[in-house]
Amino acid sequence: MEREFYRDTWVEIDLDDITANVQSMIRHLSKEQQIIAVVKANAYGHGDVQVAKVALEAGASCLAVAILDEAIALRNHGIKAPILVLGATRAENINVSAEKNISLTVYSSDWLKNAKQYLSADKKVSVHLKIDTGMSRLGVRDEQEFLEMMDIFEKEEVFQVEGVYTHFATADEVDTTYFDQQFEKFTQFLSLLPSQPTYIHTGNSATGLRFKEKTFNAVRMGIAMYGLTPSPDIRHLLPFPLKEAFSLHSRLVHVKMLKKGDKVSYGATYTSPQDEWVGTVPIGYADGWIRKHQGGEVLVDGKRCEIIGRVCMDQFMVRLPSELPVGTKVTLIGEQGSEKISMDEVAARLETINYEIPCTINFRVPRIFLEKQSIIEVRNTILL
Ligand SMILES: *Cc1c(COP(=O)(O)O)cnc(C)c1O
Repeated sequence: MEREFYRDTWVEIDLDDITANVQSMIRHLSKEQQIIAVVKANAYGHGDVQVAKVALEAGASCLAVAILDEAIALRNHGIKAPILVLGATRAENINVSAEKNISLTVYSSDWLKNAKQYLSADKKVSVHLKIDTGMSRLGVRDEQEFLEMMDIFEKEEVFQVEGVYTHFATADEVDTTYFDQQFEKFTQFLSLLPSQPTYIHTGNSATGLRFKEKTFNAVRMGIAMYGLTPSPDIRHLLPFPLKEAFSLHSRLVHVKMLKKGDKVSYGATYTSPQDEWVGTVPIGYADGWIRKHQGGEVLVDGKRCEIIGRVCMDQFMVRLPSELPVGTKVTLIGEQGSEKISMDEVAARLETINYEIPCTINFRVPRIFLEKQSIIEVRNTILL
């Protein structure tokens, strides 16, 4: 495929890795358990439409996003699979979800009463009931209110209860005390249900990987689908290897020799300790490659090289092992030869979790999608 962008910085998404991760999870789960592929936030920065398609082809039965807008964007791209909105949706937008056949999360009796008022006469909407068992985020936590909601569901046929679920706060931690308490609470709520909905689900990736017997009949697979471990603490507990689908690359656009004592970038915070080669890399904090990367490493010519001086809005400088030609590939996240800079290394450098890294490499960096080793698509915008 022809290149459709002009900058020398891009993300590669290996869709075969996504397929492999979904299929590994399917093999790991029991036969009746389904996969809800979580593609919120532009599929954690990987590309929502492309990831949704391959996840469904690989065997996921349903998609989940955070907000209604994301679900509509998927529908607008022709995706017909069931989609669940995990976050809150305004009651007055209920007709949009009904028209587009998008399932909503419901979490309070007030919301239900309100939404009923807005729903057009001929419409029905599918909902998943969210129970707050300890996240204190979204969900009903009071049994009385839960029963009131059951009453509304019974009277108002406009709400079709497709699922019931909860979310664990500590599924990726070694200590399972709080997880067990949440699980206990969820089973208490389940015992109050008059009938079983199609989906009962508790599990994010960590739960699916570690406690499949506690995920009921579906797993909401996010981070593991992208090949990232939910937390470094449980890496040794993973039941199958994960394949990192996201890599970030650029190219040297200017190479020069600095003399001992020369300074680099804003604030002149770096001084060359000797004569040395330096390269300019065209990515900066406006792409999500933030200033905190100063002092971290990238791969150039298969070797680890230090980011020197402050990261600018659109560029940064790297110390080179020798003179290298303009156009030499720079890998910021991913592999070059036998060297690898993992998402976890980058997350540790920024003192955060791996989830945050691909999400914050923003739309200015085009995504190139690889499948069976060839480029299948280039995309540099989100939600269009
Ligand atoms: C984001 C999200 C998930 C996915 O979690 P991972 O840890 O990425 O697998 C699952 N459930 C809910 C409610 C979420 O918000």
